[in-house]
Amino acid sequence: MLTSVLPFTPEMAATVTQYCTEHSTDVSPEMKEVWDWTCGEFEDADKMSSPLQGTTMKFLASWAGAKRVLEFGAYSGYSALAWYEATKQTQAEIITLELDPKMIAATRTTIAKYNLGDRLTVIEGPAQQSVEKLTGMFDIIFVDANKDGYLGYVKAVLDQKLLSPKGLIMCDNVFARGMTISTESNPQLPDKVRPYWTECGKALQKFNTYVKNDPRIDVVLLPVYDGVNISFKLAAAERPPGGAGRKPVGGHAEGADARRHVAAAVVAGFGASAEMQPAREPPRCRVGVYARAPRRVDQLGAPGTPPPSPPGMRPAMTGCA
Ligand code: SAH
Repeated sequence: MLTSVLPFTPEMAATVTQYCTEHSTDVSPEMKEVWDWTCGEFEDADKMSSPLQGTTMKFLASWAGAKRVLEFGAYSGYSALAWYEATKQTQAEIITLELDPKMIAATRTTIAKYNLGDRLTVIEGPAQQSVEKLTGMFDIIFVDANKDGYLGYVKAVLDQKLLSPKGLIMCDNVFARGMTISTESNPQLPDKVRPYWTECGKALQKFNTYVKNDPRIDVVLLPVYDGVNISFKLAAAERPPGGAGRKPVGGHAEGADARRHVAAAVVAGFGASAEMQPAREPPRCRVGVYARAPRRVDQLGAPGTPPPSPPGMRPAMTGCA
């Protein structure tokens, strides 16, 4: 049976990553420059996203037509640059949260060098404190800072209603180099970093379970890079059917379908109810829309070969922290 992850050796994984990178849209020369500079400048540059991830992020943000992006963990500004480039058309506001003064300086260097200051802001300090002061909604929320903070970050995002109705939360490194799944799962992990990632794995086990069970979001954990989970807000999530901890039966398509119904109903001035089934339609999801007005709307229009790594760093283009 084909599983979600091919049984790669590290060499095969590097070859496949290279193949994927070569057959995906290239990152911009500016992103390549920042990537190369970061690799040369910082010993722990494996924290930075890979070029293939950069392309993925740009792809997502431009597909979503993001108008506002929130990032936890700037590092040298590589991923923030990806968000910036991907949102030229929408002129999105991008906010990145960073704690480390050295990385704040690096990000500011990137901002100055590429004139990103018109739309990209760094908020300095512990991300938990920073996020608690934010208001408004974001279409893309990228969680990539300290792994033991993820739970608090996503909880704050949901509690403060910072995720837009069509928005996505993307959390990076939820495998913690494999340690989230099992401390046996990555024999290649160097001893030097094993204790760190083991601790991250423990925190991320709790986090992955939390997002799976939070009734406000639907989530898919993708076995790509170092594990990426993507969540979106469920319609009528404030009143989950059956009470807290329960999600509607079914997966993303049903959640998305329900979201369209509810959004359409709101636009059309109809009432939406978590308890009621869709009028005159076979129930596809426990979240339904009840038409109090004479007509209902069923659909709402759609929204809109990097350099080799320096010694001691991860192979070029592979996972990141
Ligand atoms: N998003 C970047 C990589 C981020 S690496 C990219 O893809 O290129 C993680 C970053 O989170 C580091 O720069 C680290 O300093 C920062 N960080 C760690 N703990 C933090 C905290 N509590 N608050 C804010 N930033 C934090």
